[in-house]
Amino acid sequence: MKIAAVHTHLLEYRLAVPFESASMRFDRRAHVLVEIVCDDGTTGWGECLGPARPNAAVVAAYRPWLIGADPLETEKIWARLYNALRDQGQRGLPVTALSGIDIALWDIKGKHFGVPVSTLLGGRFREEIKAYATGSFKRDGVNRVEDNAAEAARYRAEGFHASKMKIGFGIKEDLAVIKAVRDAVGPEMRLMIDANHGYDPLEAVQLGRKAAEFDIDWFEEPVIPEQLASYRHVRANQPIPVAGGETWHSRFGMREPIETGCVDIIQPDLAGVGGFTEAKRVADMAALHGARVVPHVWGTAVHIAAALQFMAAMIPSPVRVNPIEPILEFDRTENPFRQAIVKTPIEHIQGVVKIPDGPGLGIEIDRDALAEFRMKDE
Ligand SMILES: [Mg+2]
Repeated sequence: MKIAAVHTHLLEYRLAVPFESASMRFDRRAHVLVEIVCDDGTTGWGECLGPARPNAAVVAAYRPWLIGADPLETEKIWARLYNALRDQGQRGLPVTALSGIDIALWDIKGKHFGVPVSTLLGGRFREEIKAYATGSFKRDGVNRVEDNAAEAARYRAEGFHASKMKIGFGIKEDLAVIKAVRDAVGPEMRLMIDANHGYDPLEAVQLGRKAAEFDIDWFEEPVIPEQLASYRHVRANQPIPVAGGETWHSRFGMREPIETGCVDIIQPDLAGVGGFTEAKRVADMAALHGARVVPHVWGTAVHIAAALQFMAAMIPSPVRVNPIEPILEFDRTENPFRQAIVKTPIEHIQGVVKIPDGPGLGIEIDRDALAEFRMKDE
């Protein structure tokens, strides 16, 4: 079997109500899928984290090293592609593009052998996963405190055991939001806060000390990802566990944050860290150093399916009678193509998501939806 073609599919939807994290404004949803076609007709799907067009351009740049290669040789291909752009790469787009390719190759490998990717990774420890709701951005034209509180209450009513809210807009306003959300959901629901690296270390420590009384499970990306010493400072000087990792790419980018104790919870993204090939190495490294792994997920059903296959095979750490189960990041913000592009949407029931058990990623792509949401040229 040989790789015959590599395609990208750019998808886009313009939001009726734009929203913001601390570091980014969203007036549209845009994601890119990778489709790899083999000479025997087998097709694999992947997705890249981050800006759609630039990722598609880097995937195209990798094409000469892919055409004619054996898609089952995932380690060989990973090493060859990484090396091709290493001197100007090492992180960012060269690795996020490689991630989408790697996910598609594992999808092919699963389909070729007739098993889910989770079986190829060593076997399933679980058949379903509790999801946590990601939302509560700052939306245009509404009172953020009331809006986020109502949203979190909705997640609770839908059965979610946990939800994550966006902060990083100023300590006073953020604390008012956190208090309102806690009041709205009651004491049982788990809550997380995500600053999207919008604070400096002084602000992050101040916020963390004051927010701790609202029983917060983790404080995500408190400071910019380049400041590893600041991560350690925040972790040491305020009581909320620190999470991060969605912008640290490859095992090389993950090594220092994990080894030097920057985070309690490491969040590799399958579509950003280097696909299944690299995420497995990162999870093994995290287990060596006692960091808990909660993958980051932000994309379409292809991305969610990849995360689910990976999480199905995550080894409990520690192995015990009642192990700590991983939880799935489940984006609840507006994105009509997120599930439309697969024939069987990956949905939650009372906050729990079943892991697909078909070959590869266990999903089937709906090409009509790809056409409907195709990005327009600008
Ligand atoms: Mg985040």
